[in-house]
Amino acid sequence: MFRVNKTIEKVNLSYNQIGDEGVKALASAMEINETITVVQLDKLAMLSDEGHEALKDIERFCNRNKARMLEAAVRNRQCLCGHDLRLEELPNGGHSCDRCDGSLSQGERVYRCWTCDFDLCLDCLPEDAPVGSIVPTNAEP
Ligand SMILES: [Zn+2]
Ligand SMILES: [Zn+2]
Repeated sequence: MFRVNKTIEKVNLSYNQIGDEGVKALASAMEINETITVVQLDKLAMLSDEGHEALKDIERFCNRNKARMLEAAVRNRQCLCGHDLRLEELPNGGHSCDRCDGSLSQGERVYRCWTCDFDLCLDCLPEDAPVGSIVPTNAEP
């Protein structure tokens, strides 16, 4: 049985530590966990169809948690690690918005955390919106 800590973000289980029952237990633990966004399961033991279904659930819960964390980031104007975002002009290109994945060009104004290399474009986080005022349209209830 898995006990999933409420605050961890990443689960990493390697060779043959987890089989069918393990994957299913992890999937059900993740149903109520809201912080894990990455699960790495390397070289799994042979899984049944049920095991593969559970893997899909795990992936779905990871994506759900990531989406929730991003919406919280937008609401609070913080990166996923809780640093305050600052409105800056990008000094170079090659960045993309961490929420919508849109590419950002040099000189574009974005909300940025330098520590984490985290960017939000002004479509995702409008410049004049007061902190806490944005109600995301695509958030799950
Ligand atoms: Zn964006
Ligand atoms: Zn940060």
